[in-house]
Amino acid sequence: MGEDEDLLLAVLNSAPAVGGRITEELHAGAAGEFAVRFGGTGSDAELQHLRLMRQVLQDVIRGAEGTTERLTELLSDISLVPEPSPAGIQWRLEADPPKRLAARAALAWSRFAESTPGRLKACANSDCNLFFIDRSRPGTGRWCSMSTCGNRLKARAHASRQRTSRATDAH
Ligand SMILES: [Zn+2]
Repeated sequence: MGEDEDLLLAVLNSAPAVGGRITEELHAGAAGEFAVRFGGTGSDAELQHLRLMRQVLQDVIRGAEGTTERLTELLSDISLVPEPSPAGIQWRLEADPPKRLAARAALAWSRFAESTPGRLKACANSDCNLFFIDRSRPGTGRWCSMSTCGNRLKARAHASRQRTSRATDAH
């Protein structure tokens, strides 16, 4: 669970905005690293599935329309096989090797969305393309990081309030 939660966040955050541009981290050069870290195959097909899954999971979290159909298609030929024991039932994922990591990321998202709804969020800074788990007690966290996005947006809001009040004073 913990590892797949890391996988989910790594997938979601593999297209960060750097200097206002989205950078692709799921490219061939990085595939090996991703595979070693999470036990994938490192193949081009795996990267492609991860990029597709990333897009749909990002859209789901942002509340976009039409994501159910896309998720259904991406998960169409994976299955979970029950492995009962006295300790309970383990569900073994069966998927083509290139689709395994993407499927694991989707399952991690699903478990998280069910157990802690609304806590996996997109950063409220529109110049940022990062996702984060809101661990604040009231669940009102808005930024991937207070020290970067949070303070930057607060400074911008403050500056615009000052401009507005100066404009009002001039009247
Ligand atoms: Zn951010």
